[in-house]
Amino acid sequence: MPDTLDLRALIAAMLRAGATYAQVCAELGASLNLIATVRREHSIPVAEGRPFSLGKHAGPRGMADGFAAGTTDAGNGHVRCSNASRFVYYDNTHDTARRVAFRLAHGREPVGLVTASCGEPWCVAPGHAEDRPMRGQLRLRIAAMLRAGATYAQVRAELGAGSSTVASVRREYSIPVVAGRAFAPRTMAEAYARHAEDTGDGHVRWTGPWNQVPTPVVNFGRGQDTVRRVAFRLAYGREPVGPVTSGCGEPWCVAPGHGEDRPMREQLRAQLEAIGGPRA
Ligand SMILES: [Zn+2]
Ligand SMILES: [Zn+2]
Repeated sequence: MPDTLDLRALIAAMLRAGATYAQVCAELGASLNLIATVRREHSIPVAEGRPFSLGKHAGPRGMADGFAAGTTDAGNGHVRCSNASRFVYYDNTHDTARRVAFRLAHGREPVGLVTASCGEPWCVAPGHAEDRPMRGQLRLRIAAMLRAGATYAQVRAELGAGSSTVASVRREYSIPVVAGRAFAPRTMAEAYARHAEDTGDGHVRWTGPWNQVPTPVVNFGRGQDTVRRVAFRLAYGREPVGPVTSGCGEPWCVAPGHGEDRPMREQLRAQLEAIGGPRA
C-alpha cells in the first residue's frame, strides 16, 4: 500500500495520462473524493464524457442503481460484476460489488469478508452474499444436517450451500462419510446431482470421481457408469449408442443436454454436409 504522498502522486500521474476516475479507483484503490481533491490541487482538467466525473453527478445515483449498472445477470440466480476491478460506483463513491450486494440484501454493514454462499466464487448476487457471522451460522446448520445423515444433495437443496462448502464443513467437523443408507443416493439422478456443479452459464462441471481412462464416473449401488452416459439418459430417456461426447464446445462439460451419441453426431454431420458446411 503506497503512503499518502505517493498515492497522491500516482493518482495525479494516472489522471494526467487520461485515466477515468473509475480506472484510478480500480488501479489504486483510492476513493473518488481523494481523486477529485488531487485533480483540483493539480488543476488537471476533467475530460469530456467521463462517466464518473465528480460534481456533475453523471454516474449512477444510489446504491441499487450503481449495483444494477455495474453488474449483469449470469442466469440461475447468479450475478456477475461487469468490470474486472469488481467495484460498483454510485453517489460519488464506490465499493466492491460483493459488499454492495450484501447491503442491498440485508440492509446492514457486512462483518468481515463477504463471500458467495452459492459456491460460485465470482457470483455477486445479493441473495448469495454472506458475511462472517452468516457463514458461521450456515456452517453450524450444515454440520447439524450432515450429522443427522443428510446427503450433500439434501443439504444443498435445504440450505442453498455449494458442494465445496458442504465438503469443507464435513472435513472441519470430521463428520465421517458413512456407507450407510442415509448417505447413499437413492437414484442414479441423485448420484449424478451430488457431484454435478452448475457453472452458471448452462454447462456442468464434474466434481466427483474419475476412472483410469480418465473419464468422469458415477458410482451408484454396486455399479459404476460414465457421467456422460448417465447425463445422456437423464436428458433423452434412452440408452446412448456408441460413445457420448460433449457437443457444446466445452470438453469438460457433463450437462445432460450437451452430450451427443453416435447417431446424433452422424445426423449433425449429414446436416452440415447437406448445407456444404465443414465435415467436422
Ligand atoms: Zn450465485
Ligand atoms: Zn456444456
